[in-house]
Amino acid sequence: DNFNSLSLSRPVLKGLASLGYVKPSPIQSATIPIALLGKDIIAGAVTGSGKTAAFMIPIIERLLYKPGKIASTRVIVLLPTRELALQVADVGKQIARFVSGITFGLAVGGLNLRQQEQLLKSRPDIVIATPGRFIDHIRNSASFNVDSVEILVMDEADRMLEEGFQDELNEIMGLLPSNRQNLLFSATMNSKIKSLVSLSLRRPVRIMI
Ligand code: AMP
Repeated sequence: DNFNSLSLSRPVLKGLASLGYVKPSPIQSATIPIALLGKDIIAGAVTGSGKTAAFMIPIIERLLYKPGKIASTRVIVLLPTRELALQVADVGKQIARFVSGITFGLAVGGLNLRQQEQLLKSRPDIVIATPGRFIDHIRNSASFNVDSVEILVMDEADRMLEEGFQDELNEIMGLLPSNRQNLLFSATMNSKIKSLVSLSLRRPVRIMI
């Protein structure tokens, strides 16, 4: 029971090996095959479960085997804090290390707005963002375009709601193409999460580890 049984590409397997990941964690085993089918997922997963790779692996596979338009942002990862954004970007870059041409961008508070804007203008494949800063960029930068987004990840969705990002999340989802894939991760499943799920996900597969 290792990553080879999940039918991943060679460069992604190499990236995982370079991270020292040999066996998928339970959340990874459950999530990756379903995400690769393009289905929406709601997963109950805490920090430490390996949830970052659980969404990053299928995202990178999808970018690899389904070529998109050149220079278009195809994935948005929303999460509650800048620290988490940096960690998630780091894991993603490592997994994609042997895949050529996948680009990452950050849109988080505490980093220089102009510099971020320049980077987002190049339309990185995967943009990792906190909701407030993401909205700032969409409102202020005509050149940042979300029309090609195919996958939306909401990581630590319960914490985003606790931070008061409900309105921002609704606004962002309203701007993204509606035929996207949604992957939502949350440590807890309260009524606010349930209403976010019913608003944003289509026939989600529920994964509770
Ligand atoms: P996360 O829940 O995504 O924050 O991951 C928790 C920790 O587990 C991180 O230090 C990861 O590097 C590590 N990790 C994630 N997946 C695996 C895996 N399949 N094998 C070994 N370590 C892993």
